[in-house]
Amino acid sequence: MGKPTGFKEYPRKAVPYREELVRIKDFSEIFTNGDENHLKTQGARCMDCGVPFCQSASGCPIDNLIPEWNDLVYQGRWRDALDRLHKTNNFPEFTGRTCPAPCEGACVLSIIEPAVTIKNIENAIIDRGFAEGWVKPRPPSMRTGKQVAIIGSGPAGLAAADQMNKVGHTVTVYERADRIGGLLMYGIPNMKLDKSVVERRITLLRQEGVTFITNAHVGKKEDFASGHMTQIMEERGCPLQYVDPNKLVAENDAVLLATGATKPRDLPISGRDLKGVHFAMDFLTRNTKSLLDSQLNDRANISAAGKKVIVIGGGDTGADCIGTSLRHGATSIVNFELLDQPPVERASNNPWPQWPRVFRIDYSHAETKEKLGEDPRTYAILSKEFIDDGNGNVKAVKTVRINWSKPGEKAPFTEVPGSQEIFECDLVFLSMGFLGPEHTVSEMLGLEYDQRSNFATEHSQFATSVNNVFAAGDCRRGQSLVVWAINEGRGAARAIDKFLMGHSNLPAPG
Ligand SMILES: Cc1cc2nc3c(=O)[nH]c(=O)nc-3n(C[C@H](O)[C@H](O)[C@H](O)COP(=O)(O)OP(=O)(O)OC[C@H]3O[C@@H](n4cnc5c(N)ncnc54)[C@H](O)[C@@H]3O)c2cc1C
Ligand code: SF4
Repeated sequence: MGKPTGFKEYPRKAVPYREELVRIKDFSEIFTNGDENHLKTQGARCMDCGVPFCQSASGCPIDNLIPEWNDLVYQGRWRDALDRLHKTNNFPEFTGRTCPAPCEGACVLSIIEPAVTIKNIENAIIDRGFAEGWVKPRPPSMRTGKQVAIIGSGPAGLAAADQMNKVGHTVTVYERADRIGGLLMYGIPNMKLDKSVVERRITLLRQEGVTFITNAHVGKKEDFASGHMTQIMEERGCPLQYVDPNKLVAENDAVLLATGATKPRDLPISGRDLKGVHFAMDFLTRNTKSLLDSQLNDRANISAAGKKVIVIGGGDTGADCIGTSLRHGATSIVNFELLDQPPVERASNNPWPQWPRVFRIDYSHAETKEKLGEDPRTYAILSKEFIDDGNGNVKAVKTVRINWSKPGEKAPFTEVPGSQEIFECDLVFLSMGFLGPEHTVSEMLGLEYDQRSNFATEHSQFATSVNNVFAAGDCRRGQSLVVWAINEGRGAARAIDKFLMGHSNLPAPG
């Protein structure tokens, strides 16, 4: 339980990020390492609340045993803390770096004081585990003879692969990109999750017996343009193989679709075809590939150096476009948000232990303020037109301010008369969310969809409408979070294990 009086004695102190003006000079991780005493003191704040909402309900989606490892860290029992952490989380080094930490929003202490720094402690436990050599490959002691194919190597596919391999099934993961990891590799930028951290875990999974096949596009050649990664691969002359999903179904005992929500929402306003208007994912993927291939020396990325940048849409993707542009040396960055600015404190309709929908300053917002003088975000603004410079390049965005309607009013918002503005720019990144999974594989297999065009499965089950085909992660639940993808991968692994063996001893995630 930490120290009985810890929460009264110690204030919350998060492990700081590297200094803004220093970290924007490189793509290295923004994090610093907390020293042992600092983490012990923060673990001591966990207060034996009795009913730890942090690890259930609206807290941690994978039911991490948070109070238990907080206490173990407080006692200096790091190895035990690591064992406890791995019981519920296959990849704490990913969540410890990228998770928005709904656990902290649900922390009981946060009713009266700032929450325990749960995410920092989680990250410190796993980093220490690797540093001490405690995380070792543990191949299964026997094989069941059952074969499972997984399409997609994001956190959902990887968590499912890990779980199914543990109980002895033979798992092969097919990935169309040239590197494994899904959005952990080509999505979330290096400064938020160093790619060597992803590779380290993939190496372990390989040593434990999981087979990974990269450059393998499941689907058909006509589908080529639908995934920006396949497009990039072709441009760069990387050889791709095409794998028929029906063949995978015929040759395996089960197939898991973990293909992510890869269809970006577009902005079909006048001027959309102008040069310089890009989907955010095209910008971010090309940047990471170029960074990993050549430290950006191959110039195969979209460079924002010396450019005026507009990012349309927020969330993690918008913030990552801002952070990447800044590191390139953009001269100005503006971020349009359609919604109103959230309140600083929880609103009355957003009580504890719900996820607090409050104004947050992400890493790249703080960096932009330091480097360029102000927070890049502007709220309640609607883009109306991309303006041509006369040579087919975007030179500005025409906008109007909006007022959001009150409940019961017909239109969701109205335009403010006379509020038209012109924002000059050289580059625009569209970061307005995702519309669900691509449908080629599902059409080839004859799958059914839910109302939001995701792959349909029975409620809280993972079996699709086609026998021995399962789905997990963003392709099933829609665009979400790394921690939810891990939850889904674990859930699907249990469902497949049950389907193959008649029962499963794998844990059911929350
Ligand atoms: C820019 C960005 C930043 C983000 N930042 C965060 C963050 O900080 N914290 C957080 O919690 N979440 C974040 N997210 C969300 C998080 O990354 C996703 O929710 C999560 O990765 C989904 O996991 P997944 O395994 O379902 O799919 P994905 O990670 O999308 O992986 C799907 C994989 O399937 C492959 N694939 C698709 N179709 C085929 C095919 N036909 N054949 C072969 N392979 C195929 C794709 O290439 C991809 O590798 C971010 C998302 C984005 C886009
Ligand atoms: S995975 Fe996310 S929600 Fe769960 S304990 Fe870690 S930071 Fe909190």
